[in-house]
Amino acid sequence: MPIVHQPGTRIAVSLGVDFDAHTVWEGSFGFSSPSYLSRGEFCADVATPRLLNLFRRNDIQTTWCTPTHTMETFPGSIEQILSDGHEIAAHGCRHERIGALEVAEERRLLDQQMKLHKQFIGREPRGYRSPSWDFSPNTLALLEEYGFDWDSSLMGRDFEAYRPRPLNRSEDGPHVFGEPSPIIEIPVSWYLDDFPALEYVSRINPGLASTEVTYQRWKDHFDFAYEEVPNAIMALTVHPQTIGRASNFLMFRRLIDYMKSKDGVAFMTLSEICDTWRD
Ligand SMILES: [Zn+2]
Repeated sequence: MPIVHQPGTRIAVSLGVDFDAHTVWEGSFGFSSPSYLSRGEFCADVATPRLLNLFRRNDIQTTWCTPTHTMETFPGSIEQILSDGHEIAAHGCRHERIGALEVAEERRLLDQQMKLHKQFIGREPRGYRSPSWDFSPNTLALLEEYGFDWDSSLMGRDFEAYRPRPLNRSEDGPHVFGEPSPIIEIPVSWYLDDFPALEYVSRINPGLASTEVTYQRWKDHFDFAYEEVPNAIMALTVHPQTIGRASNFLMFRRLIDYMKSKDGVAFMTLSEICDTWRD
């Protein structure tokens, strides 16, 4: 199914930011010590201005997937992001583990996100990125119910958007796909995420990988999509507290320079990519 790019555009690139701040430590890992939370403080107070400056210098607008707790705790950062023309999308309330939630709790969290996005952003979010990219069996139907235009959490394609299908699982027979969703899925990948490769989490994630290896991996994905996939999209995911560290930041800046050296590369928000979709 095609994405219709502007004439002259060969690939649409989303440099999406997951603005987790404190929430990833508490919500995903259960860590609430002052030391872990200080990494969220670095995310908001140091790395976010650094990243905004990089985007401004390169005239790039992107999508910041932001838990509501980050909006409430760091409202000044949200003002900066919005005044630079970026988009803010839904990313849970406190980086909950969505896959384990009952439907009533998942609905309560979506109600809360709608309310707080209206309060802080002035509108309900068009797009959703699940914390840690996990879905419950109910998530897709709930996103339809709440009127989202797009999601960016699934991995059923790599360089093209698609309409995800609900899956009826069977213990003793084939799994059967349902009808395609009205939601447009802009797929993600752990290969195209800074956190697993670069963020050290004691006894959980070794991180601290070579930025040369990460650069080459991201460049290879870009080159493959650019050369092999017509009307490609590529959704990269970075976290300010990770990509904002000096060595990682220089690598990211070098990658942007490389992408910009090629003809026909358009940096777009996830909503802009969604709006180019034609069935
Ligand atoms: Zn996140």
